[in-house]
Amino acid sequence: MARPLADLSRGFRQTYLDYTELTAQLHAWAEAYPSLARVTSLARTPEGRDVWLLTIGPDPDRTRPAVWADGNIHAAELAGSSVSLAIAEDALRAHLEPDSLDLPKPVIDRMREVLFYVVPRISPDGAECVLKTGRSLRSVPRDERVERGAPRWRLADMDGDGRVLAMRVKDPGGELVESAQFPGLLVERTVEDEDPFYKVYPEGTIENFDGKTIPSPFFLGDNPIDLNRNFPWLWAPGHEQVGAGPFPLSEPEARGVVEFASKHPEIIAWCTYHTFGGVLIRPLGHAPDSKMDMEDLALFRQVEAWMTEHTGYPTVSGYHEFLYEPDKPLHGDLSDYAYNQRGALSYVIELWDLFKRLGMERPPMFEQYYHRVSRADLVKLAWWDRDENEGRCFPAWKPFRHPQLGAVEIGGIDPRVGIWNPPLHELASVCSTQSQVFVRLAAFAPRLRITRTDRVALPGGIVRVEVQVVNEGYLGTYGVPSAKKLDFNEPLYATAKGELVDPGMAHQMLRHLDGWGHGLHTGMNLPAYPGTRGTTNAAWVTYLVKGGGTLDVRIGCARTGFVTARIEV
Ligand SMILES: [Zn+2]
Repeated sequence: MARPLADLSRGFRQTYLDYTELTAQLHAWAEAYPSLARVTSLARTPEGRDVWLLTIGPDPDRTRPAVWADGNIHAAELAGSSVSLAIAEDALRAHLEPDSLDLPKPVIDRMREVLFYVVPRISPDGAECVLKTGRSLRSVPRDERVERGAPRWRLADMDGDGRVLAMRVKDPGGELVESAQFPGLLVERTVEDEDPFYKVYPEGTIENFDGKTIPSPFFLGDNPIDLNRNFPWLWAPGHEQVGAGPFPLSEPEARGVVEFASKHPEIIAWCTYHTFGGVLIRPLGHAPDSKMDMEDLALFRQVEAWMTEHTGYPTVSGYHEFLYEPDKPLHGDLSDYAYNQRGALSYVIELWDLFKRLGMERPPMFEQYYHRVSRADLVKLAWWDRDENEGRCFPAWKPFRHPQLGAVEIGGIDPRVGIWNPPLHELASVCSTQSQVFVRLAAFAPRLRITRTDRVALPGGIVRVEVQVVNEGYLGTYGVPSAKKLDFNEPLYATAKGELVDPGMAHQMLRHLDGWGHGLHTGMNLPAYPGTRGTTNAAWVTYLVKGGGTLDVRIGCARTGFVTARIEV
């Protein structure tokens, strides 16, 4: 009797696991259910941690359609790890405790047939640094540049409390002022405010300081790599794309992901979990919807409908609503790589709908939310933090004598739990609602079956064998329609072993087979003109065989895996 999943949980739905706990969680599953769960490493980080991949499904080396979930490519975005682990746990549940899942039976059945690839933490070095020190960090805590002449901030724990928070300094030219509604809270200054005013810097020291000029803090100042700009599709160098790294896949974490994905054309859907904002960001990232494959867009409308139903998150196009600068698409991000280069139905989720919780009205472009937090919103956030989040985000300021700046105060801002990530009491519902959507992607998978093997006796002891292969899945055997163009996306082929009259027929190329799904809003429900597709989901292979033996047939392709039949001739 397998151990109940609940016994093995390390609490990822209630808290943010560190590397040791996350590793223990994955291995606990792999050890308890060796026929269902396998842990491997995609890469070793410079600090010696593994980028773990959990593969869920029996017989993991048998190729079949797969779905991929990853999280925490950005160091502070810890909720992505929890959601990925929740998806893994639900995938295990489909095999072990299906009755405990609140899902329709056809979805559970498909979950059991596809492989789940789960990478809960793409940046284990980054996450560990954030969890243990609280410092702000984009992806990875390293800087291997040789160009080190310019003055810059290097973040460090100055007051020895084990955390790297913020420093404020009184300055008549300061951009911030303390809120009258919430002592200690710094808000944007207006012309009506009276002093004191403040400048805010990260806790740390200035490298190459001349004793007078304080450099502006830059979020990549001492951690120049953004792993989510290091992927090969539309990669661009640093002067065009901050955080890109010296060359595509220069970083072992990104390289490990791509090396694996390149060998696994069976990945048909791919979700990358980030924080925060509460939104699904779908392709295209680099061009307007008018340039998008319309059949793909219909599939994303189905995902959008699920996301709205289960999480309330809106869906936006990366290009239309998520460019940080107009007409400047992001370069080298993972989701673009997964969609455009690997042909997966791929999207990004920004977990934790903080803006909605603050009651902010949705701006014309979703990305504007991040700029439009008002002074009143911030005060509201601070009170919410105190009342519902144990005051984690706005710790008190404490006086400190800084070796370079003199009198400062340290503390003030710790956005890890409450801003960057959902508060702990919200994490379980974020996990379960996201999983509700993700596991439905398994129901998109193509599904090959050999449905008929007809034999007709011909003169001279020859038998004509006709084999019908059918795709019973939602998507075509090519995956998303736009993926048909990709080189690796080979059509179905059939191989046969037996006494063939013409040995040249032992290997036959077929074609891709359509699925039955169309996404949403394609007119299928309007009974104005009856008619669907013909049997574009089926193909026949014909053999002439010398009677008396057996014929072994294998049909499929790299994307769908293979189905087999042994036919007595
Ligand atoms: Zn992110």
